[in-house]
Amino acid sequence: MKARLIKLEEIDTVAIVTEAAQSGDVIDGITLLSDVPQGHKVALKAMKQGDEVIRYGVVLGYVNRNVERGEWINEHTLILPTQPPLSELKFVKSPSVVLPTPKRTTFEGYEVAGHRYAGTRNLLAITTTVQCVSGVVDQLMVRIKGELLPKYPHVDGVVAINHAYGCGVAIDAPDAVVPIRSIRNTIKNPNFGGQIMVVGLGCEKLTVERLLSEAENTKENVIILQDYEGYGAMMDALMQMAEAKLKVLNERRRTTLPLSKLCVGMQCGGSDAFSGVSANPAAGWASDLLVSGGATVMFSEVTEVRDGVHLLAERCVDERAVEKLKAEIGWYDEYLAKGSVDRSANPTPGNKAGGLSNIVEKAMGSIAKSGKAPIVEVIGPGELPTKRGLIFAATPASDIVCGPSQLASGITLQVFMTGRGTPYGLAEAPVIKVSTRNAMKEMWTDLIDFNAGSIITGVQSVQEAGEELFDLIIDVASGKKPAAEALGLNNFLCYFNPAPIT
Ligand code: CA
Repeated sequence: MKARLIKLEEIDTVAIVTEAAQSGDVIDGITLLSDVPQGHKVALKAMKQGDEVIRYGVVLGYVNRNVERGEWINEHTLILPTQPPLSELKFVKSPSVVLPTPKRTTFEGYEVAGHRYAGTRNLLAITTTVQCVSGVVDQLMVRIKGELLPKYPHVDGVVAINHAYGCGVAIDAPDAVVPIRSIRNTIKNPNFGGQIMVVGLGCEKLTVERLLSEAENTKENVIILQDYEGYGAMMDALMQMAEAKLKVLNERRRTTLPLSKLCVGMQCGGSDAFSGVSANPAAGWASDLLVSGGATVMFSEVTEVRDGVHLLAERCVDERAVEKLKAEIGWYDEYLAKGSVDRSANPTPGNKAGGLSNIVEKAMGSIAKSGKAPIVEVIGPGELPTKRGLIFAATPASDIVCGPSQLASGITLQVFMTGRGTPYGLAEAPVIKVSTRNAMKEMWTDLIDFNAGSIITGVQSVQEAGEELFDLIIDVASGKKPAAEALGLNNFLCYFNPAPIT
């Protein structure tokens, strides 16, 4: 295909090339002065050292030398601007936004008594209090899959909530609340049908009392390995408990439910310069359709919204949300400072190879996946929302940390946008993978569920791709298996622990 330049806003001083191009190529009237890789930026005009480089209508940075029209602009050409100060963020009542209307307003899900959201899967989850018991639980998983699951055909599977937390940690440190509530709330994820099965060791710091209420902490729900005489006895008890839970779960059936019972997470990973042009805007459109239909959508990744935090504050529906946004992002600024880094530590070598020069450019693309809906609530990592609608869950951007954080907050399905490609998946909830460009889909045809590259080539509009993605989200919520689920690709649950390890 012939390369084109994609300019997003009238005031932009750079545009990205849709295909790799060579020095001397003339694209949309501009002669390239060097070879430019796919997705990378080209100067649309001559710039003097210190001039603003504008994409998405915002300042990505300043050129560190004089630049000619047609030159390649990359991370070596740009100086990072200062980040927007949090102190200036204030609640301002914003004009109401008209969201697109979805064609479908229901899905087929598993209702859970007393829960805000319904499940998209029917899974037995076995939660561990500490890493010490995970070897036993891994063997238990093998036995359940081989001996028990075939007897309970209405159960989709069994998952171990294994993690690296639980002992050797400063359990009463203020920030320990983050991993503790994350594990506690994961147990209640709607995909687990309200059934509780917790396996502890007996001497760990993360006691069962910290995870379950008194009413939940019963011998029907909890097994402490140190109470048993040997491996055989503990395995017998574990198998018995698992079978009792499977019997209950096997009675669950999908029913037609309103979208208000659906909670979807949005995440991106392995982003490139097309993320903010194709996959994320399509996800944003789908997100607006979901929210408009009554569903809850969570987006996250603090370091990837930091440079657009003022844009998020403008979309908050009340002062409480703005204050919480300031508190969560402010906490994260300090957390990064403690490690002697700032938000510029986020972009990866792959992001840069994909044309994302710095965190400002990455942030503008990242925020696009939240669509235009107002932000009804801001929550901390692993916290439970109290509202329905678009929610900002302030989690790290790391794929394998954002995933479990959103699971803890109640998502039952995740939509994952990628430009560079990742086989990422979660055992606890289906993950739909969306590619930013055709080449990604062509290379990983059996790993990518939805290709938004059609937007780059002009075959589909953002709206058309967004509507199609929305349809796929509803289908997957209703039982259709995306690639990662069908292939059994699941990532380890890395819970965010900002507290000290002892
Ligand atoms: Ca991510």
